[in-house]
Amino acid sequence: MIRVTENFRKIQDLLAKAAADAGRPADHIRLLAVSKKKPLEAILAAASAGQRDFGENFVQEGIGKIAACGRDDLTWHFIGHLQANKTKAVAENFQWVHTVDRLKIARRLSQQRPESMADLNICIEVNVDAEEKKSGVSPAELPDLAAAIAELPRLRLRGLMCLPAIRHDFDEQRKPFAALNAMSKALQASGLELDTLSMGMSADYAAAIHEGATMVRIGTALFGAR
Ligand SMILES: *Cc1c(COP(=O)(O)O)cnc(C)c1O
Repeated sequence: MIRVTENFRKIQDLLAKAAADAGRPADHIRLLAVSKKKPLEAILAAASAGQRDFGENFVQEGIGKIAACGRDDLTWHFIGHLQANKTKAVAENFQWVHTVDRLKIARRLSQQRPESMADLNICIEVNVDAEEKKSGVSPAELPDLAAAIAELPRLRLRGLMCLPAIRHDFDEQRKPFAALNAMSKALQASGLELDTLSMGMSADYAAAIHEGATMVRIGTALFGAR
């Protein structure tokens, strides 16, 4: 588990460097450690190195880890595809959901979020490359969805998330992230208070940071291959 600690330090340095290259303060970028399919020990190692935010893709696996680690010191983000029959479990356990892409799901999360818990933080997933097989709302439908979600009780709309098609060239990687940033700015201009751009993973975090990412979701570079 020494490797998780080492990787954590290395990633902190890489994120700081990417921020400096982009002319942004490093503390504007939050590292979300994607721990899917990784054992509890890996999470605990990262937590003892100072990591606080963890992302999980599978509801049952995530709930098990939340039960074991608790929510007092750690913040748990659901970043997987969310089906309607799983919204209750997510609403009752996680603090963030990054993958809301339709109103039905948002309404269920709103109704199912326990009153005793803080508002559930929401990012809307946008299908930036209009990929047929990918989740996410289309850019055209985003404004209406965002306005509707912002009205729902017990949810707090924080921002946008994307998972672009794989690109290898840095300048190509920047394009979908720049597009998501522009959508966020347009929503802000329409009066929504958004503070989160959840974009960038192990292979494209630098491009995402260049285009304004406030949260990068890193799995492989931190915990090794899955
Ligand atoms: C798995 C996953 C990640 C992390 O990807 P890595 O390439 O391992 O860094 C980020 N975001 C989402 C939505 C994921 O499913």
